[in-house]
Formats: sequence, C-alpha cells, structure tokens
Amino acid sequence: MRRITGTHVYSYAKCPRLAALDLSLPKSERRVWHPWEEFAAKRGRDFEDEFVATLAAVQPEYPARDFDRGAAATLELLKQGVPWIHQAVLLGDQRLGLPDLLRKVDGPSKLGSHHYEVLDVKTSGLARGDQVLQVMFYTRLLAELQGRMPERAAIILKDGSEHGFATADYLAVTRDVEGALLRLAAHPDLARPFLQRGCESCHWSDHCLPELTAKGDLSLVAGMSHGARAILEANGCRTVADLAEFSNDGRSLSQLDSALVRRLRKAAQARLAAAPTVEARPRQKGSLSLDRAAIIHLLTDPYAGRVLAFAVQHPIGDDNGIAVELPASVATEWSALKALLARVPTGVPLLHFDSALPRWYEAHAFSREADTGLAARFVDLQRRLRAAALFPEPAFTLADLVRCALSRDPLRAGHWGQAAMWAAEADGADKLVAKARADVQDLADLKRRVLDAAPTPA
Ligand code: SF4
Repeated sequence: MRRITGTHVYSYAKCPRLAALDLSLPKSERRVWHPWEEFAAKRGRDFEDEFVATLAAVQPEYPARDFDRGAAATLELLKQGVPWIHQAVLLGDQRLGLPDLLRKVDGPSKLGSHHYEVLDVKTSGLARGDQVLQVMFYTRLLAELQGRMPERAAIILKDGSEHGFATADYLAVTRDVEGALLRLAAHPDLARPFLQRGCESCHWSDHCLPELTAKGDLSLVAGMSHGARAILEANGCRTVADLAEFSNDGRSLSQLDSALVRRLRKAAQARLAAAPTVEARPRQKGSLSLDRAAIIHLLTDPYAGRVLAFAVQHPIGDDNGIAVELPASVATEWSALKALLARVPTGVPLLHFDSALPRWYEAHAFSREADTGLAARFVDLQRRLRAAALFPEPAFTLADLVRCALSRDPLRAGHWGQAAMWAAEADGADKLVAKARADVQDLADLKRRVLDAAPTPA
C-alpha cells in the first residue's frame, strides 16, 4: 500500500476520488499538464525558493527518494536545533510528510529545550481549509517525532505574510481525514467520481468523465448535489435517463424537496435533449432596461492579483462595439476601465459574468475616486442565466455555458488560464485582445439565446 502524503490530504479535501486515484493508479495514467498549468506551478516553486532564500534554512541531505535516510538526516538537524529546516522528511506508519519549512521555537521536547512548528508556503492570497489540513498532517507527524504537539502552525501567503493558527483546533478533523485516507488506500473504490467544478483542472479528468458519461451518472445533471444523488439512488433512480422519467408520486424523499426533484427531472430532460430549457418566468421589473445594457468583461492573473484585460461591448451584439484595454500595471487598471466606460451611456446596466468584476471594484473603489453609482449598475449575467434556464450540464464556468448552450468551442481564442502566460509573451497583447473579444461575443450570444429567448415549449 502506498504511503499517505500531505498531497493526498490536500487532494482529499478537494475530492475524495482524487485522493483515491492518486493512491491507487500510476502517475503515467494522469492527464498531461497544459503549458499554462506548468507555468503556474513554476511560479509557485519560484515563490517558495525566493521566500526560503530569505531564511538561513538548512536542508537534510539524502539520496533521491530514500526517505528512510532523509528522515534520519532530518532527525539529526532537529536534535542540533538549527533555526529553520527546509523540506524536512517526516515518517510515520504508512505516512510521509515533506513540509516546506520547520521553525525552531522555545519549549522542551524530546529534542531538548526546544521544539519545532510547521510552515508551508502557498501562492494563495488567503489561507484555505485544504491547506490547513495539509499543514496539520505534517504537524501530527512532527509531534510524534519530537514528543510534543506544537501550539501553532502557519501558512505563508503570496504576499509573504504568515497566517498562523492553533493546532488544537484542527487535530480531530485531521485524524478523521487520515483515517479516511487509509481506508481509501486499501479500498479506492469507496470514492466514486462526482462531476464538480474542479474536474476541469483535475489530472484524472480523462479517467472520471468518460466513466460518469458511460454510466449516465446523476452528477451530470445541473443542480445535483452529493446528498440528492444518494437519496435518488436509494429510491431506485440511478441514471440521467431514470431521472428524466422519475416520479416520486407524491412520496416524500427524505430531505429532498419535491420542487427540487421536479427541477432536477427537467434538468435531466435538458441533458437528454442536449439543449437548454428556457423557463417561463415573469419579466422582472427593470429587465426591459437590459435591452440597452452593456457587457463588461475582464481577464485576470489571480496569482499576481492583476487585471490583464478589460473589454466592453455596447450596444450588445455589435462586434464593432467591442473595445479592449490592457492595463500595463495595477496602477493603470482604474483609468483603463474609466476609458472604456466613457464609451457607454451613463446609467445603462453593466452585464458581467460571476463575481470577478464586483470583487475587483470593491478592492479598488475605496482608494479611488469611485463613481458611487457604478456598483449599482452591475448585473451578474451568470446568475440571470441560471435563473432563466436549465442547462444540459452543470455549467460551472463561462466555457461550460458556451459549450452546452451555444454548441461552440469556448476555447477557440484560448483558455482563460493562459492569460497570465500570454502577458509574458511577445505577442501576448494580441492573444489577450482576441480572448477578451471572443468571451464578450459569447456573453452577448448567451444573453440573446437564453435570456432574451421565448420559453421552451413543454
Ligand atoms: S476528475 Fe473530478 S471526480 Fe474525478 S478525481 Fe478529479 S475532481 Fe474528482
């Protein structure tokens, strides 16, 4: 049986099936990484190297992958009491931990008058639960070695700040996760796939998605949850085809609301028809004004916390009405957006996709001469689309919606994840403009074909 590592803990928090496959299948069966995924991973490694270079950290020396020798070399450094240890090797029963950093702190332990605590370097702006669990996995291994549980552990965020937390708060959940991972290592089939947002970027997507499709798994239905799938299956409804004809005959399905069952059934029917079902709905107050709305879109580099492109279209549907600005730095983002908005009549609604624009605005408006009425004009097209129609697949991203509602290749101008990589290329500006324009055209067509469409006949 393979050893459980910190990466498995991290994976388990994202998707138990991911951890199960990582533990049971060879790496050679994983999907090959895209160049932009390699680019992002390299930035993460570079950041860790730069951060560690600021410390007088010592690394245990051992032959490659000989973790027993690595653990012995680590123990030696721990006993010596060096201030920082980079990439220590911590071994336990069926567990292997390779934390980024161990820091010496005062307080007696089996090592002497000192002990250590764990720090892990991440490229996120905020600490996440999966990262905390990973650090806690290392902490438990370290505690066994030094005979003392450190009071604290920390995550280094991308701005170099330290997010510390009390280890006692997470011990129970970490034990539970380790137990679940040991069961999965012995019985990987215990974790079934479930179509979710993370599947697109997962290295097992080529493995799981064909399996889900072949089985007609209920997670392929828009709006499905793990709980709803379990309840439906327990009631004999196991596939998308079953659900499209499923009737609960007025029976209560445990916690499953009958209105939700009806909605899931219609979503299953939309999947079988391979087309969205536009719902009959009362015209919302103010929706008339969306006829003269503008579309506003942005491409970002989440790691650098930058907007790489803003695009605006007005009137919607007019390709000549698309304008794109590429801010050269964070300092010019505000003026770039203002220049674009100058092309749009005052007061018209600004249709955008998901929460990226409101988040950007909130982060910048405070320090700028903000137009106080601007945020009130934001209308989330993603939310409106979800309310207006049932889509033939769970549409997590703009690309999903374009694929399933417009039957068009959403990646014809590239993947949004490439944007940060393009920004570093000589012809990157052209690619950013092309991608921003393609996305805006998709948003305009989604509005026209779903939001403005008549209800699908029953
Ligand atoms: S493809 Fe999806 S279901 Fe499969 S392991 Fe990855 S995240 Fe989990």
